[in-house]
Amino acid sequence: MWKKSLALVISAALSSSVWASSFEAITLGSKGGIQDGNLTSFMLKSEADSNYVLLDAGSVVNGLIVAEEKGTFNGIEVPEDSPYTKVGYMLREKIKGYFISHAHLDHVAGMIISSPDDSNKPIYGLESTNKALMDNYFNWSAWPNFGNDGKGYKLNKYQYVNLMPEQWTPVSDTKMEVMALPLRHSGGRSTAFLMKNPAGEVFVYFGDTGPDLVEKASAMNNVWENLAPYVKQDKLKGIIIEVSFTNSTPDKSLFGHLTPNWLMKELSKLEELSGEGSLEGLNVVVSHIKYSLKKGEDPKEVIKAQLEEINDKGINFIYPTQGEKMSF
Ligand SMILES: [Zn+2]
Ligand SMILES: [Zn+2]
Repeated sequence: MWKKSLALVISAALSSSVWASSFEAITLGSKGGIQDGNLTSFMLKSEADSNYVLLDAGSVVNGLIVAEEKGTFNGIEVPEDSPYTKVGYMLREKIKGYFISHAHLDHVAGMIISSPDDSNKPIYGLESTNKALMDNYFNWSAWPNFGNDGKGYKLNKYQYVNLMPEQWTPVSDTKMEVMALPLRHSGGRSTAFLMKNPAGEVFVYFGDTGPDLVEKASAMNNVWENLAPYVKQDKLKGIIIEVSFTNSTPDKSLFGHLTPNWLMKELSKLEELSGEGSLEGLNVVVSHIKYSLKKGEDPKEVIKAQLEEINDKGINFIYPTQGEKMSF
């Protein structure tokens, strides 16, 4: 009898995430502007394999340099026959694709600027995002056309993959799948990427987004409806979402972004759909806080204090630092 109960304990331990994390993220850039070199970008991989993707690409090579200097890649060996540095190896061999939430410069600048020395890889996005990349950047006017579509001669380094909203698509060279969920960003489009590992666990990354009430839309609500079943099964491992401004910012000046109050209102909707108390312990990474040129209060500290003050759900808010690793 004791053997049976021991086996149950062991199998429960193995199936829970207490013993191993399900996803790993490395912050290549944490700010929503204006600090070039530290703009929104996160490496993500599932524990099921060793390859990463990038969630937005505001800062790429500089983020890799900072991560290397902090020792974040110490466990990764560059093969002896590789001609590349650790930074080069990570960019060219370990990052297997870009997920671009929208084509604003603070989300794509690192990818564009590193493209001449990058390896071939797919760019995943909604069709409208990929179109904006080829029309505005990879067009032989702003920059050479490194894509496989768009204006003029195509250098074919990047393959645009148009994601159909709300459909699972396999992510090449990884064991993950992705579902794109459209967001509203000051009337324009942005994207949330839901990433799934082979165990059926998910991690969600939000590009810039305004609250539904301000955007007069239901895009956020649609994301919460897609996430609720995973919350109920304890399979939502983490969220990266933006809080660009402090609570003192009036709704008319949000320009498609969130404040601490708006984020909590939106997360309340997820809790309503998933059950009271269901967000306790949920990891929520707060990204896209703007670098401030002003003396005095640091917006990050203000946002932190404002979120903690209204956090009655036991959510674990995390404030990412460039070059550092987070486990979920
Ligand atoms: Zn942005
Ligand atoms: Zn934006």
